Amino acid sequence: MENYKARIDSVYNGSAVDGKGLRCVVFFTGCNMRCGFCHNPETWTEKGTETELNELVRKIKRYKNYILNGGVTLSGGEPFLQAEFARALVNALHVEGISSIIETNGLILDEELIRVCDGIRLDIKNQESDVDKRVLKFLDKCEELDKEVTMTNVLVPSLNDSKEKLDILKRLKQKYTCIKELKLLAYRKLCTSKYERLKIPFPYEKYEEGTKKDLDKAYAYLNE
Ligand code: SF4
Repeated sequence: MENYKARIDSVYNGSAVDGKGLRCVVFFTGCNMRCGFCHNPETWTEKGTETELNELVRKIKRYKNYILNGGVTLSGGEPFLQAEFARALVNALHVEGISSIIETNGLILDEELIRVCDGIRLDIKNQESDVDKRVLKFLDKCEELDKEVTMTNVLVPSLNDSKEKLDILKRLKQKYTCIKELKLLAYRKLCTSKYERLKIPFPYEKYEEGTKKDLDKAYAYLNE
């Protein structure tokens, strides 16, 4: 196995919210966005720990039995910024019989990485603007490659829970058959202490957290 290296913030074993089943999540460092609701601002800088591919695969293999019904999620940060390593990781995990999906903002298109992974979780950022054209190109490629996409969207009350904003998601779901699921995530402020620790302002501090009622209302509209 060629020994690629990447900057990794951390590896978390036991997530039930980053895809199907129990998952091992690899948090890549570096991100090309600065979302106001970001839960992982510690991954924004590219510092992280330089990690060798075989060392990471060895670590993940230790959890293999635990994640048999799930898999690995490449998250961050933005994994597509380190696409070469991500491709090598996905391929190495396949050899071990472990599947991998990638959480992304969809701004960077790496055809080979889309091709080799076992699914994409694409977070649509429509809180303050319409969807970036690069994300549409990313989705075009997923459609062409017939890659299963779960579309996620962080619902921030008063910011993107209007019908106009939800219509953006509706239109995407109607247009792309590769989008198999649309998952709304309630905006949370659990990350406040991270911003304090990093001494950077938390841009969405002023917004209320999303509630189950907000989600139910949005889903009811989306399913009309
Ligand atoms: S794309 Fe993800 S990691 Fe990057 S700022 Fe946005 S939420 Fe945070």
